[in-house]
Amino acid sequence: MSRSEGPLSEGPFALPVPYAITRRPDGLFIEWDTEGHAWLYPARPLRLACRCASCTDEMSGRPLLDPAQVPSSIAPDSVALVGGYGLRVRWSDGHDTGIYTFERLRAACGCERCRPASSSGPLVQQPDR
Ligand SMILES: [Zn+2]
Ligand SMILES: [Zn+2]
Repeated sequence: MSRSEGPLSEGPFALPVPYAITRRPDGLFIEWDTEGHAWLYPARPLRLACRCASCTDEMSGRPLLDPAQVPSSIAPDSVALVGGYGLRVRWSDGHDTGIYTFERLRAACGCERCRPASSSGPLVQQPDR
């Protein structure tokens, strides 16, 4: 058996890669394919989810970012691809050290396909005993 190394080697674990990324004042609109699989990632929650060293403590994993420091008008100023596996977003507050991997973005997709039908929505959960 030969070992394949490197993130770009083809394998059984195909990384999700967006078909199109549209920067909008209210967030990032990512299309995962050409058949309508798309989701708008709202700007502020995305900014708050930054996992860079200054927003998240590397040792404990605790968030260091105070949500009160992030204005509600936060918007992505620019978006750049990183190594074919993620995105680097420059925010209107000047923060640009966070990288959002496609894997993570895909996992956070809130479309009906990824979050199967629940008429009550993700914020309303009723324990069923
Ligand atoms: Zn950050
Ligand atoms: Zn989805």
